[in-house]
Amino acid sequence: MSVQKYIHKVMKSTMESTPGQAEFYQAVEEVLSTLEPLLQAEPKYDKYNILERIVIPERQILFRVVWMDDAGKIQTNIGYRVQFNSAIGPYKGGLRFHPSVNLGIIKFLGFEQIFKNSLTGLPIGGGKGGSNFDPKGKSEGEIMRFCQSFMTELSKHIGETKDVPAGDIGVGGREIGYMFGEYKRITGNFEGILTGKGLNWGGSLARTEATGFGSVYFAENILAKRGDTLEGKVATVSGSGNVAIYTIQKLYDLGAKPVTCSDSRGMIYHEKGIDLHTLKLIKEVERKGLDEYAQIHKDAVYIPVGKYPEGTNAVWGVPCDIAFPSATQNELNFADIKNLHKNGCILVTEGANMPSTPEAIHYMMENKIMYGPAKAANAGGVATSQLEMSQNASMATWSFAEVDSKLNSIMKNIFNLSYETSKEFGDEGNLMMGANIAGFRKVADSMIDQGAV
Ligand code: GLU
Repeated sequence: MSVQKYIHKVMKSTMESTPGQAEFYQAVEEVLSTLEPLLQAEPKYDKYNILERIVIPERQILFRVVWMDDAGKIQTNIGYRVQFNSAIGPYKGGLRFHPSVNLGIIKFLGFEQIFKNSLTGLPIGGGKGGSNFDPKGKSEGEIMRFCQSFMTELSKHIGETKDVPAGDIGVGGREIGYMFGEYKRITGNFEGILTGKGLNWGGSLARTEATGFGSVYFAENILAKRGDTLEGKVATVSGSGNVAIYTIQKLYDLGAKPVTCSDSRGMIYHEKGIDLHTLKLIKEVERKGLDEYAQIHKDAVYIPVGKYPEGTNAVWGVPCDIAFPSATQNELNFADIKNLHKNGCILVTEGANMPSTPEAIHYMMENKIMYGPAKAANAGGVATSQLEMSQNASMATWSFAEVDSKLNSIMKNIFNLSYETSKEFGDEGNLMMGANIAGFRKVADSMIDQGAV
């Protein structure tokens, strides 16, 4: 069977056997289509049915999460943990609490996580979980009761050498704390079963910063290959969670000027540069909307989502040299990339998971816009989670500088591996192809070694 036919067959059976999972098909299609040259060179992946196997999670757990709201009413949500692939290590990946969560979303994230984790060079398999619970507008007590109920079931499926969840959208230090406490109450064990923990109880320095810092280190590596630097570059950033905040912080550290951020309600354009202190205050302390930012900084522009130009994300309409989509999936489409291109943007680095649509990626390739794909560019978060696991296992505590310097070299290694792999397969500089092939190869070869499992 030709390679194209093989890929087509697997795509078709995936869509038929698991209907209604658009984001998952998008993630699978992107990986499989870039594997063509590898599959051509190595018939063993077809022989051992690797594609058929890799698109099916080893296990997916779906459960009811019941909790009582402040009014005394019983509320119900759906909880998920998809344990996708454990060929190279225990399942590892975040938990997302957001109303848009469904099985297809968790599967797309879990599938991406397999290759991202592989690229880090660390021994971690791929998994993801979450719930359609919406933390927005909930009280402290409601968040706590939800997290405890969620962990009551999740605790049966995780373990230090089995599956180690972490945060993602809607899950930060506070939620990890409530879940960790509940796990301990249920099992009686103080174990590193979650990462992103508080610094007083097993967390790692620099974990909060890691995804954002890593994404900027990755951009730095891309630019360095062209003899360029971040110095003096104007950057647009979307999002205002920990990825966006620490992307903005590191951009300043390296001499760039970040001018935008956004949340689910609107975006801020601050031409003289985003004020990091205000942003942290609003998002990390007060947990408020970005409209507050414009109240404090009268020279900043706030555009609510309803006022974005039709079919576009207003963040990508702002002139910039480099763009860091750091909010969520499919937030940068064909119209957005055309806007960015017209305004002179030369590089897109993905802090979020799958933020660019396939059409936008295709446009970048055609128009030679440099592209740092999510699996490589945002792998610093999960890599630092593994550093947290290492510290927990050896009962050690590393300094901020130690963790940050490990993160920096991990990002460099991921860039080099992706770059060299793109060269090996005849498309030098195509980091999407390089990252997918390199991430896949390690997992697939491990699956072959481990037999029919
Ligand atoms: N949610 C993050 C990601 O998408 C981090 C996962 C982790 O630290 O396990 O990679």
